[in-house]
Amino acid sequence: MVSLNSPLNEIERIGSKTGAILKKLGLSRAQDLLFYFPFRYEDFATASNISSLQAGDSANITGEIELIQGKKSFRRKMFIVEALINDGEKTIKAIWFNQPYLAKTLKVGDKISLAGKITESYGQLSMVSPEYEKIASFGFSAADEKKLIHTKGLVPIYHLSEGVSQKQMRYFIKSVIPLADKLPEWLPEKTRRNLNLIPLGEAIKKIHSPKKKLDIEKAQQRLAFSELFLRQIRSQIIKQDLAKRQAPKITFQEEATRKFVSSLPFQLTKAQKKSAWEILRDIEKERPMSRLLEGDVGSGKTAVAALALFSAAINGKKSALMVPSEILAKQHFKTISRLFTGYAFKIALRTRSYKEGDMDQASIVIGTQALIQDKIGFNDFSLVIVDEQHRFGVNQRKKILDMNRRDGISPHFLSLTATPIPRSLAIAIYGDLDLSIIDEMPPGRKETVTKIVKEKYRPAAYDFIKEKIRKGRQAFFVYPLIDESDKAAFKSVKAEYEKMANDDFKEFKVSFIHGKLKKDEKEKIMRDFSEGKTDILLATSVIEVGIDIPNATIIAIESADRFGLAQLHQFRGRVNRSDKQSFCFLFLSKEEISNKKTIERLEALTKYKDGLSLAKIDLKLRGAGEIFGSIQSGFSDISLASIFDYKLIKKAQEEAGAIIKNDSDLVKYPMIKAKLGEFEKDFHLE
Ligand code: ADP
Ligand code: MG
Repeated sequence: MVSLNSPLNEIERIGSKTGAILKKLGLSRAQDLLFYFPFRYEDFATASNISSLQAGDSANITGEIELIQGKKSFRRKMFIVEALINDGEKTIKAIWFNQPYLAKTLKVGDKISLAGKITESYGQLSMVSPEYEKIASFGFSAADEKKLIHTKGLVPIYHLSEGVSQKQMRYFIKSVIPLADKLPEWLPEKTRRNLNLIPLGEAIKKIHSPKKKLDIEKAQQRLAFSELFLRQIRSQIIKQDLAKRQAPKITFQEEATRKFVSSLPFQLTKAQKKSAWEILRDIEKERPMSRLLEGDVGSGKTAVAALALFSAAINGKKSALMVPSEILAKQHFKTISRLFTGYAFKIALRTRSYKEGDMDQASIVIGTQALIQDKIGFNDFSLVIVDEQHRFGVNQRKKILDMNRRDGISPHFLSLTATPIPRSLAIAIYGDLDLSIIDEMPPGRKETVTKIVKEKYRPAAYDFIKEKIRKGRQAFFVYPLIDESDKAAFKSVKAEYEKMANDDFKEFKVSFIHGKLKKDEKEKIMRDFSEGKTDILLATSVIEVGIDIPNATIIAIESADRFGLAQLHQFRGRVNRSDKQSFCFLFLSKEEISNKKTIERLEALTKYKDGLSLAKIDLKLRGAGEIFGSIQSGFSDISLASIFDYKLIKKAQEEAGAIIKNDSDLVKYPMIKAKLGEFEKDFHLE
């Protein structure tokens, strides 16, 4: 009998190879499959007549196979299976690539159900690589149509890794679904009743196999509440705990600070000054600061952080600046070192592969997660700043909080984020943090001109980009490669790069950065681009957050339709970092070129210039069905829909408050306590 804790290889059809792939997705026990939520659904609730189909539709059809044949295509080096399906009225062609076995499993006369995109070529409609399910074989009676799970109804779509298909994933999850009844209900009965939430087991069943849209809503509400509630419990515990701790007093030194500010290469904006002031006042106290500095991409958070670092250093206190990537660590090391040229502060850099400067002697240590993983020097920090906080996990934040100094004193804590959420929500979600907001851009910034480029205007856009590069500017090209281990997709991005470097843009120096390169290669590519030695940087979607290269004023995004608006906005934030005019070009993927809805969604980017509006629009247009698509939402540390569900957040806050007020150690709530431990351990973000 498979139980919640059974390892995956005890589940039918999961061998060691598939098991290893699932492990990469963070799945190792049966229970993990239950909590692996779809990020959206295909709506195949009603079957279509072939005669009513239009190019661009996603549709389900059922019919009989009239003809099926497999052949090798020598030109494209592929095996092609083609079939004609008739629904009693009209016929449509279906094509599959490199699945030769289909020519054997499917036979003339079989009744099948197909689901997928309808495409058009040479005036003919067809379905390319549709999902299929046999309803009945020739000569046998029709099986029950209700059993269809891949082509009919609301079909869940999961994030995958190479080597596992949607079909397999659905099969695996379906086979453990009965275990959902065994999941312990950890949310107190009273809370559930107050909020009219369905039980956990039911929510899990509904999220994976909804019968109607309402099922998805009910399930999401329960699951979103669980997350918000645990966050609230956690932040209220932290808040109580922080109030009991002692922190080093970092005295505000007015004259020195004034002098430093006037040495900056620019005048601080009002919003930067206000935020800096809030921070500098806060670290003067003997209670640890716990503060979030929020500001849209390019608003100048680094300078504000530098002021805090300065204040600590001038008081002889040591601080750390932690960032999510090596490239960013190096960039900050350079920027901060430059800002502090006139001072004797020692600055050290620490990542997995670089060590620069003496950690013990340094007043400022800049580094990656390596800082907390190795607990380097943490015993001495008086101030810890975390940049791009949303890229770090909840557990990392906890680790930082747990790391008191040797003398038992806690460091002040500041985290920086570009997550675009309004003040009221930020306070509710990050309940234990105080908030400073930079709500204006440095002066002189022009709006990035954003254009959706139709395929026929691609050459014109390229000419425009070339003209700008000839004038000395630089350009990013971004390709959506969400899973770098997807070999076929990787190959096509690489081919694009070759074409750009050797054909379209051959007069320029083009480089290509992606997740598979070695660290020092990545490093060199970034350095060359930032020093202007290369003109064009082609990058997969792993392109680093926070990268600041003011001379790069153009960003072209391929298959922009595959990203969420908030994430596209983050990409766009790579440019417009100086007073020069910047441009953002959005190209569509082949399947979406003529899709009106897609174009409408992307047009929001041409109208709105702030991440918050864009995130809201995305939620509205894509629908709550994408609640769990947090990776593409551009927020990544909380699911998109819950961020805007103010009522639910408030409720979570109240319910958590009522519990923590009387029982901050959760003595009477062992189930919540256990769940909290799991949440902090398992909740990793990227
Ligand atoms: P982010 O908030 O996205 O981290 P950065 O701190 O990287 O933004 O700042 C973006 C760019 O704006 C940098 O090149 C920085 O030097 C510049 N900058 C920051 N503050 C100002 C200001 N007050 N005036 C002009 N430029 C500024
Ligand atoms: Mg930054």
